[in-house]
Amino acid sequence: MFNFDNSFLSLPEKFYSRVHPSPVAKPEMVLLNKELLKVLTIHSKNSKEYIAELSGNKTTQTSTPFSQAYAGHQFGHFTMLGDGRTVILGEHITADNKRFDVQLKGCGQTPYSRRGDGRATLKAMLREYFISEAMHYLNIPTSRSLAVVKTGEPVYRETANEGAVLTRIMKSHIRIGTFEFARYFGTTDDLRELVHYTLKRLYPEVEHGEIPALSLLEKVMRIQIDLVAQWMRVGFIHGVMNTDNTSISGETFDYGPCAFMNTYNPQTVFSSIDNNGRYAFDNQPGIIKWNISRLAEALLPLIHKDTETAIKLAQKTIDAFDILWNEKYYQTMLNKLGIQNVNYKDNTLVDELLELMKTSKLDYTNTFSALSLEIDFENNPIHDPALKNWLEKWKGRISENNNGFRKAKSIMKENNPVFIPRNHLTEEALNKAAAGNFSLFDTLLDVLKTPYRYNESSHSYLLPPKQEFDKNYQTFCGT
Ligand code: AMP
Ligand code: MG
Repeated sequence: MFNFDNSFLSLPEKFYSRVHPSPVAKPEMVLLNKELLKVLTIHSKNSKEYIAELSGNKTTQTSTPFSQAYAGHQFGHFTMLGDGRTVILGEHITADNKRFDVQLKGCGQTPYSRRGDGRATLKAMLREYFISEAMHYLNIPTSRSLAVVKTGEPVYRETANEGAVLTRIMKSHIRIGTFEFARYFGTTDDLRELVHYTLKRLYPEVEHGEIPALSLLEKVMRIQIDLVAQWMRVGFIHGVMNTDNTSISGETFDYGPCAFMNTYNPQTVFSSIDNNGRYAFDNQPGIIKWNISRLAEALLPLIHKDTETAIKLAQKTIDAFDILWNEKYYQTMLNKLGIQNVNYKDNTLVDELLELMKTSKLDYTNTFSALSLEIDFENNPIHDPALKNWLEKWKGRISENNNGFRKAKSIMKENNPVFIPRNHLTEEALNKAAAGNFSLFDTLLDVLKTPYRYNESSHSYLLPPKQEFDKNYQTFCGT
C-alpha cells in the first residue's frame, strides 16, 4: 500500500529505536480520509489491507518502523522525551515524488514510553483528526490525519475508554526537541549529521550555505513566524507550545489541548494544565521566539567553534525576530481588513479594532467576517455601537484605493473564515462520534471544508456559544 523509504534511519542510531506497533485485538476502521489518500497517491481497493496496516497489526514489506528520540522544554523545563506512543512506519514517497512521514499514534509502548501505556483514546484521536483536517482547510500548514482505527481494547484514563490508533501524515516529525536531544545527549558530530539531514530533507536550497546551522535557524524562525501569524488570523490557541511540539517543517502538530477563541480576549487559555497562561492566545508569538532561542542554543557548537562568536551570530539572527514578526502580523491582520498598499500608519486600525473588540467582548471570527459578509444576523458584532467611529475610519481608508470595496471584500473573504471549529460544537460532535453517532461530526467537517464560504443552511454553525460555555471550557493534553 505504501511506498516507503526510510531516510531517517541513516542518522546515528541514538536518534531512534526500531520498534513495531503492538498488535490490537479487534481493529475496526472508523475514519479513512479519501481525499488524503489521493494526495498520497495511494490506491488500494482492499479495505482489509487498510485496517491491518493502519491499526499496526501488519506492516508493508518496505516498512522498518521506528520511534524517534527527542528532548524538549515543557512549560519551560528541559526534559528527555521521545515518541512514547507513536511509531513512524516509514517515509511514503508519492507518485509525484513528495515525501511524507506515516506515523501511527496510540500504537503501543516504545522505549520512550516512561510510565505511559503507549495508547490513545478514541475521542482524543477523533479530536486530532477533526481539528487537523479543519486547519488544513483553513489553509494553515498542519499535520494531516489519514485514518482512525478502533482497537477493540480499553484504554484506562480516569475511566475505561475505547482505544484507537490515528495515522498522522507530516512532511517530517523533526522538531526543535530533536536538536535539543542531539545537543545535550549526543556529540557535535551527531548534531552536525542532524543539521545536514534536516536541511537536505526540508531546506535543500540552503544546504550548502556558509554556516548551515545558521541558515537552518533562520529558515525555522521565518517559517514559524508565518505559522503563528496564521494561528492568530483564525483565533487558534495551540495550548502546548513546548519545544518538542514545534516542528522544523513549519507544520502545526500535536492537537491535544488546542482550542479556538470565541470572544476576543488576548489572554484566552483553555488548557487545564496551563495555570499561568504561558500558552495564552497573545503569548504565542513571544513563545515561538523563546522556542527558536532554544533551537539557537542547541545549534551553537555548529555556528562557530568559538562560543562567544557563536552566541553573537545566533543572537543577530534572533534579533531580527521582532521586526519580522511585526511585519508578518500586521500584514496578516490588514488582509483581514481588506487593506491594500499598507503602510505602518494602518497598524493602528488593527490595534484599535482589537481594543474595541476586547472591551465590548465581541466574537473574534464574526467581527472580521461581518466586515465583508452581505448577510445580517442576530448579535452581529458589526452593529455594536462601540465600533461606529472605527468603521467610519476603516471605510475612509478602504476608499483610498482603486476599486476600494470590491477589492477589499475579495481580500477579506480569503482571510476571514466564516466557519471555524467552535469549541462547543466540536465537543458535541466528538462526544456523539465517540459513542458511535457520526452525523454531527460529518456535517461539521463538511462545513469546515469550505470555511471561507457562507452558506445559509449552515448558519447556526457560525454562532458562538453562550459566554458561560467558554468560562467553564477546559481542554486536556494527550489522553
Ligand atoms: P505531548 O504532550 O503529546 O506532546 O506528549 C509529551 C510526551 O509524552 C511525548 O514524549 C509523548 O510520546 C508522551 N506520551 C503522551 N501520552 C503517552 C502515553 N499514553 N504513553 C506513553 N507516552 C505518552
Ligand atoms: Mg508532543
